[in-house]
Amino acid sequence: VELPIHDAVLGHAAAFGEQPALIDGTDGTTLTYEQVDRFHRRVAAALAEAGVRKGDVLALHSPNTVAFPLAFYAATRAGASVTTVHPLATAEEFAKQLGDSRARWIVTVSPFLETARRAAELAGGVQEIFVCDSAPGHRSLIDMLASAAPEPQIDIDPVEDVAALPYSSGTTGTPKGVMLTHRQIATNLAQLEPAITVGPGDRILAVLPFFHIYGLTALMNAPLRQGATVVVLPRFDLETFLGAIQTHRISGLYVAPPIVLALAKHPAVARYDLSSLKYVISAAAPLDAGLAAACSDRLDLPPVGQAYGMTELSPGTHIVPLDAMRDAPAGTVGRLIAGTEMRIVALDDPAKDLGPGEDGEILIRGPQVMKGYLGRPDATAAMIDPDGWLHTGDIGRVDEDGWLFVVDRVKELIKYKGFQVAPAELEALLLTHPAVADAAVIGVYNDEGNEVPHAFVVRQPTAPDLSEGEIAMYVAERVAPYKRVRRVTFIDAVPRAVSGKILRRQLRETP
Ligand code: ATP
Ligand code: MG
Repeated sequence: VELPIHDAVLGHAAAFGEQPALIDGTDGTTLTYEQVDRFHRRVAAALAEAGVRKGDVLALHSPNTVAFPLAFYAATRAGASVTTVHPLATAEEFAKQLGDSRARWIVTVSPFLETARRAAELAGGVQEIFVCDSAPGHRSLIDMLASAAPEPQIDIDPVEDVAALPYSSGTTGTPKGVMLTHRQIATNLAQLEPAITVGPGDRILAVLPFFHIYGLTALMNAPLRQGATVVVLPRFDLETFLGAIQTHRISGLYVAPPIVLALAKHPAVARYDLSSLKYVISAAAPLDAGLAAACSDRLDLPPVGQAYGMTELSPGTHIVPLDAMRDAPAGTVGRLIAGTEMRIVALDDPAKDLGPGEDGEILIRGPQVMKGYLGRPDATAAMIDPDGWLHTGDIGRVDEDGWLFVVDRVKELIKYKGFQVAPAELEALLLTHPAVADAAVIGVYNDEGNEVPHAFVVRQPTAPDLSEGEIAMYVAERVAPYKRVRRVTFIDAVPRAVSGKILRRQLRETP
C-alpha cells in the first residue's frame, strides 16, 4: 500500500458520504464520513498555516473522542508524525515523551490542558498547544473547521516518512518511541482486513484507547477504512460500556482480557441486551481459554477470537479470522497474516528453528516491522537482526495447522531449578477457581536462592474466607511439582495497564 495513512484510511470517505463514521457514545454527537473527510482537510490546512511542517512531531494527548481521528489524520496530512500520549500521563511522563520525541506541537482537550501546559514547560521546544474542544487563549479544532487556508500539498514518502510514533507500553522497561511509517501502518491494515471484514451498517465500540496502537488500528483506522460506524467511549466503565452496546446495537468488540473477564463474570452483564454482538476479539495480553469460553457461552457468541501483535509490528501478525472462530483451537492467538514470515527458534540458540509443538521465541519478518526505535540504534539492533527478523521476546508454539499459541514473555519466565514456569499458565489456572476474581504471578527468590512462583490473588467478594492454603493446594493438585505456587498474597486489585497487561514491577514492590 503506497499511500499516506490518511489517504489509505479516508480514500473511500467521500463515497461513504452521509453514513455515520463516528458517534460519541456519551452525548451522541455524530460525524458522517463526508464530514470526517472535509473536516480533517480543514484542520490540516489550519495546522499548516499555524506552522506545522513536514517532519514535525505533534503530540496527540486525548481520550477517545470523535475529534481524535480528525486531529490524527489532519496532522499526518500536514506532514507531521503523531506521537500519541496517554491522557492520564503525569506532566513529568508527558514531558519525557515530548523531550524524547522532540515534539513541537500538542493537541489536547481542555480537561487535560493544565497537564499539557506543565509538560510543555518542563520539556521546552513546544511551539503551540491546540485544543480539540475549547479553552481561552488556545486555538481549537472547532475554529480550524472554518479555516480558509489552502489545503497543504505535502509530498509524503510512505516508505520513509514516519506517520505514528507511539511509545511501547513500558511493561518491561522504559517506554520507547516506535517509528512506524505510513506504509507499515497502511500495509498492516490491508493485511488484517480479510480476517474481519466490516462495512456500512457494522458498529464497532471504541472503548480501548486510540492512543495505543491496538486501538488506533482496530478501532479507528480499520473500521473507518471500511465504512463502519465507530462508537467512541472516553474510558472503560462497565455499565456505560454495556449500555453503549445495547443502545447502539454494537456488532463487534475488540477488547483486552480484563473486559473479557468482566463480560464472563460480572453480574451487571445480565441486565443488558447484548444480542446485537456478533463477535468478540481480544488481544494485547494473554487470555485464558476457559475464560474466553465462559464469555462466549454467556453471551451466546462464537468463541472469543484473539489477535497477536506488538507496537513494533504496526501492530498485528496473527488473528483468528471471523469465519474460523468456531473451528480454531481453544487458546490460539490466530494464524499468520499474508505477506509475513514467522520462525519459532530455540531460546538458547536463535539459529535453531523449532517445529510444531515446540516452545521457542517468536521471530517475525514482514513489511509491518517498525523502522526502528527513535534515537536508539542500539535498542533497534538488539530487536531486529541483520536479516530483518524482529525478535519479539515472546515465547510461542504453532500446531500442525499453523495456529499460534503464545506462552508468555521470555523475560517473565520463572526459572525454578532449571525448569521454566510461565506465569500466564498459573494465572489462567488460578482464574478457574470459582472464588478467584483475578490473579497475577511473579517469580520471587526463596531462602534457598531458587526463583519460585508467588501468586497475588483477588478474592471474589462472595468468598472472603478463601485461604492461602486452599490456593496453594488447588494449584498443586493440577500442575507438575516444579510449577507449584509457593507464596500467596491477597490483594484488592491486580495492577494493570489499560491494555490489560499486568504491571509486574508494581507487584514486586507490594509488601
Ligand atoms: P514494552 O515493550 O515497553 O515493555 P509492551 O511489550 O507491553 O511494552 P506492547 O507493544 O503494547 O508493549 O505489547 C506487545 C506485547 O503484548 C507482546 O509482545 C505480547 O507479549 C503481548 N501480547 C499481545 N497480544 C497478545 C495475545 N493475544 N496473547 C498474549 N500476549 C499478547
Ligand atoms: Mg514490548
